[in-house]
Formats: sequence, structure tokens, C-alpha cells
Amino acid sequence: MAVKYLKSLELRGKRAFIRVDFNVPYDKSMSITDDTRITATLPTIRHCIDGGAKVILVSHLGRPDGKVVPKMSLAPVAERLSGLLGRTVLFVDKPIGAGAAEMLAGLKDGDVALLENIRFYPEEEKNDREFGKKLAELADVYINDAFATAHRGHASNEAITHFVKECAAGFLLENEIEYFRKAMLDPTRPTTAIIGGVKISSKIDALKNILGRVDNLIIGGGMAYTFLKAKGYDVGKSILEADHVPTAKAIIDLAIKNKVNLVLPVDIVVAPDLDSADKMSLARFDAMPSDLEGVDIGPESIGLYSDIIRKSKTVVWNGPLGAFENPAFAVGTNAIAKIVAESDCLSVIGGGDSVSAIHQSGYADKMSYISTGGGAFLELLEGKTLPAIAALDK
Ligand code: ADP
Ligand code: MG
Repeated sequence: MAVKYLKSLELRGKRAFIRVDFNVPYDKSMSITDDTRITATLPTIRHCIDGGAKVILVSHLGRPDGKVVPKMSLAPVAERLSGLLGRTVLFVDKPIGAGAAEMLAGLKDGDVALLENIRFYPEEEKNDREFGKKLAELADVYINDAFATAHRGHASNEAITHFVKECAAGFLLENEIEYFRKAMLDPTRPTTAIIGGVKISSKIDALKNILGRVDNLIIGGGMAYTFLKAKGYDVGKSILEADHVPTAKAIIDLAIKNKVNLVLPVDIVVAPDLDSADKMSLARFDAMPSDLEGVDIGPESIGLYSDIIRKSKTVVWNGPLGAFENPAFAVGTNAIAKIVAESDCLSVIGGGDSVSAIHQSGYADKMSYISTGGGAFLELLEGKTLPAIAALDK
């Protein structure tokens, strides 16, 4: 891939059209409850302001399905961004059409505008070429800084790139591409992948791809029980995908073939259900009680996983190791987060729930990189080329 990065662009006097991910959560009164996604892309925006560009930002918010849904307006984001940047952000409520062009023509070098939710237009998610062309009329250079939507080819991240001469990845997207490259494509060995989460079925392709790239594959979370079942053990009331026992067997065989050390939990925290932390106990992997379910990895598993992580130079992690939403069942995930944080390996973590779990653990700021993508990160793990990144490759 030969993606150009923002640093290499000449910006002065140009209209820098930036696809950002301002898909922030609102409360009922449309107040932003978490502005992480806005702050994540500030370095790119500031770089363009300082470089003397006229900055035009485009994003989606929620799933308005091609209709104008007032409670999904980006107007509150324009206001928050104005505060964060310390300058007025022009909000363009009808980005397509003559009015918008006039508003944007008034921008001076260093000014910033934000377009209304681009998913108010049905053409956006259809990756409509003509719509991409109309958006391109607002751009001299195109910058993508929205990793979380990079696995979807839409007009504002794919079609538009066919009509703008110069396209580049912003700093956030550059980090995503470069950390993933260092962690998975060109890693310092030994490398370890930690894969957990609720189901094996959502991660089959990722597991198979990872087995071609790592030295160790540590399994935790709900999917571990389908693996234990595949090895012939009973897993009591634990989450089990009976249809995927053969899949788990195939993955175990592939690990053997590829000489990857596949590691399963050896002891398991069990409870009657996910709300009964007061009744939890410990079971061996080969002696799980029939009336209890596995909710977390046990202390011996933590020790086993920690030894492998301490010897690793690179760690990629997707999927919590237990039902971490209940703090009593977050012990394994937290302990492993601490080990990863304190080891001097390169650590890259991605996945919606994984990122929440790492923040909950308190070790987020000690990781090398935390991805801003859930689905997009998983597709990278699957070995796929993301359409919005491929579109930058000219
Ligand atoms: P990510 O979003 O990071 O890709 P997943 O969506 O695959 O992760 O999985 C996260 C979910 O897995 C969490 O809601 C967590 O509670 C659940 N989980 C992990 N281990 C278990 C378990 N032993 N039993 C039930 N749920 C589990
Ligand atoms: Mg999830």
C-alpha cells in the first residue's frame, strides 16, 4: 500500500476537505456525553489550520438512513469543536447545493467549517459516484481521518477520492495504519495475539489470519468454552456455540500446522449467572460444574498468560477475557491489561468492548496504541484491505 500521509501535503490557501469521525454520543437533550472522537482528530485539524488551509470537515452521526433526523444533527458538534479549537466553526446545514458553496467560498485561510451529517443524504452510504463528485467540488485536497468507518466504502470516504487529485491519511488514520503494520504485518518477534470476547463465530476469519502471523495465540472470554468443548471437555452452562465446535477444532489444527502456541484457560471463574458474583467459585478446565457458567479466567490462567506476554515483543489484543461489565468478572482482563501495560512490548488493542474494558482497567494510557475502530480493526485482523484506505492508494 502506498498511502500518502498528511505531513507530505502542501496546504496553504487550499481547501482541505477532511473526513472525520464525529459520531459522538448525545444524551436526550443533545448534549455530547463523550467527545473522545472529536479530540482524537484535533491534531489533524490543527495541522491544517496552522498550515493555512481552509478546513472543511465532513462526518456522519448515528444511522439516519438517508433522511434528515434533527436529533442526529452535527450542530452541537460544531459548537463543541469551536470551544476546543478556540475559534468559530462555521456550520453548514445544507452541504450540497448553491448555498453551501457560497458559504464555503467565504472561508479564509485557517478557517474551519463543519458540514451537516452526511448520512442525511441517501447517496452517502450507497457510495454514489455523482454524490462523491459533488463533494469533491468542495475540495482541493482530501484527507481521511476516520478509521472507524474505513471498512465501509461510502461517498465521503471512497467515491470522492476518484475526483480529488491529492488524497492522504490524516494523523489518526496514519497511526492506525502504522501501528497495525508494526503489530501484525512487520512485527518484532515473538508476537502474541490475545483474542477474547463473546463468540467465536464473529472472529473466525480473524483467528485464521492471525494464525499465519503470530507465535502465540491466547484465547479467553466466552469463545474459550467452544474451544474447550472441541477438546472434549464439558463446559457446564457457559456460552457455547455448538455449531462452531468443528470450527474451533479446525483452528486448533491450523495452530498445530502453523506451529503457533495456542493457549486456553486452565482454570475458570464460574458462577450461576452473570449477576451472581457473590456465588462465584473456581473450576479446572476439565472439571467445570454442569450447573455453572464460565465468567472469567482464573489466577493460574492469568499466570500462564502473563509468562507468555512477558516474553513477547509484540502483543495484539481484541476481546475481553471475561464478562468484564460486572467488575467482579473483570479481574482476569484487568490483570492481563496490567501485565501488557507494564511489559515493554509494542501493544495494540482494538474492538469496541475491548477498548471499554481497557479504559475500565485503568491501564489505557500505558498501552502503545488503542485503536479507534471496532469493525474496522476486526477487518484488519481478518487480513482485509479496507475500502477507505485502498481509496487513498493512488
Ligand atoms: P470487542 O467488541 O472488543 O470485539 P466482543 O464484542 O467480541 O469484543 O466481546 C465482548 C463481550 O464479551 C463483552 O460484552 C463481555 O461481557 C463478553 N464476554 C467475555 N467473556 C465472557 C464470558 N465468559 N461469558 C459471557 N460473556 C463474556
Ligand atoms: Mg463488541
